[in-house]
Amino acid sequence: MPEKKNILVVEDEPQISRFLQLELEHENYICTVCADGREALDTALSRDFDLIVLDVMLPSLNGIEVLRRLRQQKQTPVIILTARDQVVDKVTGLDIGANDYMTKPFAIEELLARIRLHTKNSVVQMSESNLVCGRLSVNPDARIATYDSHLIDLTKKEFDLLLFLMQNRNIVVSREKLLDSVWGFDFYGSTNVVDVYVRYLRSKIDDVYNVNIIETVRGAGYVIR
Ligand code: CA
Repeated sequence: MPEKKNILVVEDEPQISRFLQLELEHENYICTVCADGREALDTALSRDFDLIVLDVMLPSLNGIEVLRRLRQQKQTPVIILTARDQVVDKVTGLDIGANDYMTKPFAIEELLARIRLHTKNSVVQMSESNLVCGRLSVNPDARIATYDSHLIDLTKKEFDLLLFLMQNRNIVVSREKLLDSVWGFDFYGSTNVVDVYVRYLRSKIDDVYNVNIIETVRGAGYVIR
């Protein structure tokens, strides 16, 4: 039996923290709950956690401040929970060292997937089911893509397209083939949609990490290598 991972949940809404605790314990994590920012910081500094789920709006010390002070001493992975549309919190949180963020209301399955991702050691992370190309890694089971261990936030179609290209890496795949495989034969659009989605992927991977992951092969299609 692998050792159980310790998760600190910092959340002042009892319904949410109770729900998270039940879900996490069901998934075999040991869960500690704090409802207050200052108490959470003390707990996070005095004990070692594998991951912290951190709400932003908290009594006594907000989540951003908790994270800022935590980062002066510790690199515990942190997933920030923000209310929908609190874009400022999201940006600030990532700037000061959050590993990930989720907006409320969130899908528990997605949060669990991200917790799994961020509590894995880098060695374990390169598991057999992961498709890896350089620093790009795609996990078909968890439906997660990362670059340099940073989660890439993809829509369903973007993920499907990236997955198909990764499954066929080093092979040039035509637009028609991509359209059939990713969108299905019953899709009545033109192959332009493929170009549009490749552009989306490039804006989320190539542009962000200054790389050229998806290559255009003129007159033939696209390839990842
Ligand atoms: Ca709150």
